[in-house]
Amino acid sequence: MPVHHEAPKTVFENPVILASNKLIRWRRVRVRPADLLLLAPHCLKRQACPHNVLDSMDNCQRCGKCRCKDLLELRDRYGVRLVMASGGRQALAAASDPAVKVVVAIACGRELRAGILKAFPKPIYAIHNRQPHGPCRDTDVAVDEVEKVLASLLKREREGPARRE
Ligand code: SF4
Ligand code: SF4
Repeated sequence: MPVHHEAPKTVFENPVILASNKLIRWRRVRVRPADLLLLAPHCLKRQACPHNVLDSMDNCQRCGKCRCKDLLELRDRYGVRLVMASGGRQALAAASDPAVKVVVAIACGRELRAGILKAFPKPIYAIHNRQPHGPCRDTDVAVDEVEKVLASLLKREREGPARRE
């Protein structure tokens, strides 16, 4: 997949997103992998790809032409849940599942802000997508940032129950 050099929009631009991410860090949320949902927007999928990853991410053939491959690898490596949402309503439904204790959501600022407010008090860590081709089309995300966030939210072996300070 092409390397995009566009600088990511910083979360510090938006107070709702900033507060949500800060709160998660402050509470030191730690969950089991099965309790963490990685939520991706449909615009991350390559538009020209014929595979229906909205039905199931497992339909992705992992060709590497979009970030679906990378997100699936993170899912498999960390054992977290992964859903690609076709829109805000589906994203909210997935985030509202009581079995989900924390959400790592990738989207544009507008969708992240709306989702955080609607899903409150569900903890949501927000990560901005990048839009090298404009909004809603063939978007991108910093996979290393996503991985760092996942690792920071998962309980390590031998770590006690989730701390909520
Ligand atoms: S990585 Fe998956 S979803 Fe993306 S273009 Fe390739 S097969 Fe399609
Ligand atoms: S850019 Fe934002 S509004 Fe457009 S599809 Fe992606 S997440 Fe949704």
